[in-house]
Amino acid sequence: MSAISGFPSKLRVRTHEPMDRHTSFGVGGPADYWVEVRSLDALRLALETADRLGIPRTIMGHGTNSLVADSGIDGLVIYNRYVDFAANAADEIVRVASGHSMARLAGRCARLGLGGMSFAIGVPGTVGGAIYGNAGAFGSDIAAVLKSARVWRRSHEVEALASDFDFDYRRSNLHDDATGPVVLAASFRVQPADPAALRRELLALARRRRATQPLGKNAGSFFMNPDGDYAGRLIEASGLKGHELGGAFVSPVHANFLSASPGGTARDVLDLAIAVRERVAETTGVRLTPEVRLLGRWNSHARALFT
Ligand SMILES: Cc1cc2nc3c(=O)[nH]c(=O)nc-3n(C[C@H](O)[C@H](O)[C@H](O)COP(=O)(O)OP(=O)(O)OC[C@H]3O[C@@H](n4cnc5c(N)ncnc54)[C@H](O)[C@@H]3O)c2cc1C
Repeated sequence: MSAISGFPSKLRVRTHEPMDRHTSFGVGGPADYWVEVRSLDALRLALETADRLGIPRTIMGHGTNSLVADSGIDGLVIYNRYVDFAANAADEIVRVASGHSMARLAGRCARLGLGGMSFAIGVPGTVGGAIYGNAGAFGSDIAAVLKSARVWRRSHEVEALASDFDFDYRRSNLHDDATGPVVLAASFRVQPADPAALRRELLALARRRRATQPLGKNAGSFFMNPDGDYAGRLIEASGLKGHELGGAFVSPVHANFLSASPGGTARDVLDLAIAVRERVAETTGVRLTPEVRLLGRWNSHARALFT
């Protein structure tokens, strides 16, 4: 056992790890305990240990869709860097670990001449985070390509079919499951394709992204697009493109990207999001729903303001 009581030493757990280092917003307070896992065994061990110690645990991928509270996160944060990959071209399946980058998956499939995953070049997170939120881009999404996924649920592992996740726009039923299921690995359907054509497609999609999306400390689209419209268009129509409030601002490039300013806090980002949502509702009558997840010690008032 390590000096940190109860944790196996091979997990190399850190205490009070600042989460601003591990989220694309670049904000968020410390995790009580934090561990990076690089294999399925380590991921399982971290999950088992949290359950055995009876402490809360949060699985995180690249932190590109998460707003972590300034007061931090209770219990153990599992930083998922388990990235195994295997392709079975004959069966038209790729099997990928949940900590694998979606964008790298697009590149790997293209090099192997396996089509269907190019949309993943637009998703900066991990496979696990993408399944959690049915991530999508360029007209495709996880629901369109997932065959099945191995899921840890209350110390049991099951191979769940794509239909078991009840995917909807940027949603899966993992959102509603209080037991905190964790995706361990996933199988995606792919089709044979010309590697050179796939490479050209990826380059074109990446170029399109660079031309339309801001760099900086954000989590991509903050709000989901309402039926038949775009959250960015509604925010812009409400006069908020480039708007600043405290230590956060609406991007002047893409109005659905909210960013923390240098020195800004998670609370600043949340306050800006609430203000944007109120103004859009007053101006257009549309109530926007957040796509970004709140993680950590947000009080019930903050959570309620944002539901
Ligand atoms: C510049 C930019 C552009 C973006 N563009 C897009 C886009 O085009 N389309 C899109 O859909 N999203 C986009 N996003 C948002 C984000 O990349 C996706 O939502 C992504 O799927 C999040 O993955 P992650 O690993 O970063 O998740 P995290 O932020 O680490 O986690 C998000 C949620 O998923 C849960 N989770 C993570 N891993 C697992 C797991 N293994 N099992 C169960 N739950 C898990 C976490 O607990 C958390 O609740 C963008 C973000 C940025 C910064």
